Order: sequence, then structure tokens, then C-alpha cells
Amino acid sequence: MNEPKVAVITGASSGIGAAVARSLAAEGFRLILGARRMDKLRAVGEPIDADCRFLDVTSDASVVEFCKSIGTAHVLVNNAGGALGLDSIEDAQEVDWQRMYDTNVMGLMRVTKALLPALETANPGHVVNIGSIAGREPYPGGAGYNAAKFAVKAITQVMRMEWLGRPIRVTEIAPGLVETEFSLVRFKGDSERADRVYSGLEPLTADDVAEAVCWAVTRPSHVNIDEIVLKPLAQASATMVSRKQV
Ligand code: NAP
Repeated sequence: MNEPKVAVITGASSGIGAAVARSLAAEGFRLILGARRMDKLRAVGEPIDADCRFLDVTSDASVVEFCKSIGTAHVLVNNAGGALGLDSIEDAQEVDWQRMYDTNVMGLMRVTKALLPALETANPGHVVNIGSIAGREPYPGGAGYNAAKFAVKAITQVMRMEWLGRPIRVTEIAPGLVETEFSLVRFKGDSERADRVYSGLEPLTADDVAEAVCWAVTRPSHVNIDEIVLKPLAQASATMVSRKQV
């Protein structure tokens, strides 16, 4: 019997990362999962027999420790990230912008760099970056997050160019509104404000996004899915949504 393929997922303690973990486990992958909240991470990982490891993608030392002893990685899902605040540039909170950049951009670079030899050994390896429609379309109040996710899009495209000829596939998955802890984190625990983001419409679920990731990584090895943009039917752009009165 063939050894199972290995998938590494950052930010797997909730939302999209957790859903991708379950979905890849169902495809027969062996999972290595990382996040900071170990209790939540274990709750995701234990039922699917995953290797759950503490990971703070903003820390070099944590990334080095996390990646230790990963000799082969067929798939890396750079999912850890999110938004903080919805302030105008005039009112920008530097600490929020810094954290968004550190997590969504620097974290992605750090983990990818550390796992590149393991991905190449997999022959082919596959890097899946979780971007966003916020990385394609700016919106008022979004500048800090927009800048971070535009960076994810740019980095994904450069990966594709720099690794051309090497056995590493590269995909960006760019969702619109997905109901997860995303808005609760963005609005710093204000659950009423977070709930309003999804009220009166049917958002994507984390499972919807996980299906897209799963599809991209299970294509034949000569096929590279460059990007997938998916939005709820009720969302035409970052700022245009159709809400029913509730
Ligand atoms: P979520 O439920 O808040 O999940 C975010 C995950 O990232 C959590 O598992 C969190 O785990 C992890 N994380 C945050 N900071 C981290 C750090 N420093 N080190 C390691 N892990 C960290 O939100 P989500 O919607 O699933 O977000 C996943 C990704 O999708 C993000 O990149 C987000 O930008 C992107 N996205 C979301 C939406 C949406 O509408 N929800 C749309 C487009 C793109 P810990 O807190 O336990 O560390």
C-alpha cells in the first residue's frame, strides 16, 4: 500500500483551515495542523488523527519548531490570517495593520520558505494560498486587509514564476463572504457587529471553500489550478450584496 500523502495546514483551529483539514483527511491525506489555540486545534485534529502542533506564524522560532521533522509535504495550505478592524486610513490603527501584515503576508512567506525543501521532495508538492476577494478589489475601511491580501495574490503569482520547471504547484483560493470566526476577530469580539456581516444572506460555508481546495489539490499532477474565486450567490463584489429584510 502507498504511504499516505502529507498535508500541512496553518490556522487549522477554526473556520476554513479546520474544514480543509477534515476534507483532506477524507481524501486520505495525513494531516499536520498548526495554530495558537491548542485546545481548539486538538478538537479539530483528534477525530481525524492529525498531528496537532502549536504554531504562531508571526514568530520565526515558532515556524522553525513547527516545521521540524517534516521531511515530505505534498500540500501546504497557507490559511492562517484574517482582518483586524474596518477603519479608514485616516483612523488606521498601526498595531492592526502590522498584525495583518505579519500574519497574512510574513507568516505565509516564513512557513513556505521553511517547507520548500519538503514540498520539492514530495515531487510534486503543492502550495495553496488562501487569498480573498479583498485581494482583488479594495473597499473603504479595508485598506490594511486589502493591502495584505493583494500581497498574497502577488506572492502567489511570483511563486508560480520562480518555481516554473520545479515540481511545485501553486494555487490561490480567493473567497468572498464565508461565515467563520473571521468577522468576530475583525471586530474584536463584537458578536452583534460580526453577525450583521452575514445577516439577510446565505454566505459561503467553510466547507464550500474546503471543497475548492480539495478539488485543486486532487487534480492530476500535470494540472495547476492557478486561482479560484468563489462568492455567495448573494454577493457580486466586496461591496455589493443582496440582503433580504430580517
Ligand atoms: P477564522 O475562523 O478566524 O480562522 C483563522 C485561523 O487563523 C484560525 O485557525 C487562527 O487560529 C489562525 N491564526 C490566526 N493568527 C495566527 C497566527 N499568528 N499563527 C497561526 N495561526 C493563526 O477565519 P477564516 O475565515 O477561517 O480565515 C481563514 C483564512 O481565510 C484567512 O487567511 C482569511 O483572511 C481568509 N478569508 C476569509 C474570508 C471570510 O469571509 N471568512 C474570506 C476570504 C478569505 P488561532 O487563533 O488558534 O491561532
